[in-house]
Amino acid sequence: MALNEHGQYEAYAVTQNDRTQPQPSASASKVCPFSANVPDEDTIGLGLFSDACGQKVDGLGYFRSLYGGHVTQEGFRERGSSGGFGSWILNELLETGAVDYVIHVRPAAPEQSENLLFSYQLSGSPQEIALGGKSRYYPVELSEALKEVRKTPGRYAIIGLPCFIKSIRLLQQNDPVMKERIRFCIGLVCGHLKSSGYAESLAWQAGIASDRLKRIDFRVKDNTDRADRYCTLAASDTEERIIPTKELLGTDWGAGTFKYKACDFCDDVFAETADLVLGDAWLPQYVHDPLGTNLLVVRNKHLEGLLLSAAEDDRIEIKPLSVEETLLSQDAGLRHRREGLSYRLRLEQDAGHWTPPKRISASSKRLPKHERQRQLLRIRMREISHTSFLKAKTAGDLSIYLDSFGTVYREYKRIRPGLIEKLLAKLKKLKQKLLGRP
Ligand SMILES: Cc1cc2nc3c(=O)[nH]c(=O)nc-3n(C[C@H](O)[C@H](O)[C@H](O)COP(=O)(O)OP(=O)(O)OC[C@H]3O[C@@H](n4cnc5c(N)ncnc54)[C@H](O)[C@@H]3O)c2cc1C
Repeated sequence: MALNEHGQYEAYAVTQNDRTQPQPSASASKVCPFSANVPDEDTIGLGLFSDACGQKVDGLGYFRSLYGGHVTQEGFRERGSSGGFGSWILNELLETGAVDYVIHVRPAAPEQSENLLFSYQLSGSPQEIALGGKSRYYPVELSEALKEVRKTPGRYAIIGLPCFIKSIRLLQQNDPVMKERIRFCIGLVCGHLKSSGYAESLAWQAGIASDRLKRIDFRVKDNTDRADRYCTLAASDTEERIIPTKELLGTDWGAGTFKYKACDFCDDVFAETADLVLGDAWLPQYVHDPLGTNLLVVRNKHLEGLLLSAAEDDRIEIKPLSVEETLLSQDAGLRHRREGLSYRLRLEQDAGHWTPPKRISASSKRLPKHERQRQLLRIRMREISHTSFLKAKTAGDLSIYLDSFGTVYREYKRIRPGLIEKLLAKLKKLKQKLLGRP
């Protein structure tokens, strides 16, 4: 895996000297989550979870139980992005002897290649696990960490985004060593992955240009505000800036700045092949708590046992959530990966481009006109954020990015539904209310 000029990882054939064009290979296409030659999340989930899970819901996948909650055991919630379950569950698996190591994302050591700020690493102690808290909206890749797993016998747990976990499951189907060693897959609910340009653009707006950026924290909790009003911390060797994230251009997740193009062809929000999935519980009953609350989708009996016993010991607080609440908490992400994806597939196919096989079919009929306009501008914003930021870096002038992206973003924010669309939306809400659904 190597970084391209836009700060995104791409796969190259090992023997390839010319890294200007990524190349497919037969072995890579057996594990690439977007390959046409691999089973989809429904098929993988069926093999893994149909016995352990009583239920499966479209968009959510299989599950045994659904919860909202946070960790009360010391330090986890404070060090985490949300309720702290990401580091807690890895720690719990290690402390209870279920695994010997965890594979997670930590700040990269300065000597690591390509000057990246974060990377996948192995941790074998609670102290090391504590270094890995927080969401890293940043490019990461697994090949180096997996080389270590192959070298070091033991039992492992891994945490990752839906497409990374799918890749691990595919690898396990083809590789008995990985199947035997990786015992638990923890998934993160995912909006999309960012290139390194995202971190650099935030830090530069805060006054720290890319060449000076040494540390970034995308999720500094503002203990006086709502959970979704967090701050960004950017630091050089000599100074540290903390700015409310919403004041920085490009941080509206809907706009999709610095997104990988592959993310626009993903239909897995809830890491449907993971044993346990963690996200932010963006729900009215939780969003006002500035310390953050997790959403948990449990698909594995052992992990459910760990959660229930920790709840009895008052080390965590969890409350059951309904399917509707769970889906509602990721409403925007699901719409983008359902109706939105259907339209984006139509656009790509009409342009004669290859698209990965998806569980959603291509159509332009599932979206009203103003939503189609939004989708077109989201695609434009994804593209323009990469190209204009590269130009800005080359010229040493941040305004090139801010002006180019800002113009399209303002146009995007002006889009409103027409009269008929507003009326239809009201009718839909009324129908849902009458049927008692949120
Ligand atoms: C790119 C990205 C997009 C996300 N999109 C959404 C979303 O749309 N909706 C939503 O509800 N939640 C989303 N999340 C998840 C959310 O931000 C929190 O990570 C999650 O709620 C867990 O928080 P926590 O406090 O329990 O975890 P913490 O205790 O903070 O632990 C986080 C764990 O995740 C690991 N980690 C951090 N970054 C990465 C990464 N890039 N790849 C793999 N592992 C990583 C860390 O190593 C750590 O083990 C996203 C996360 C990422 C990284």
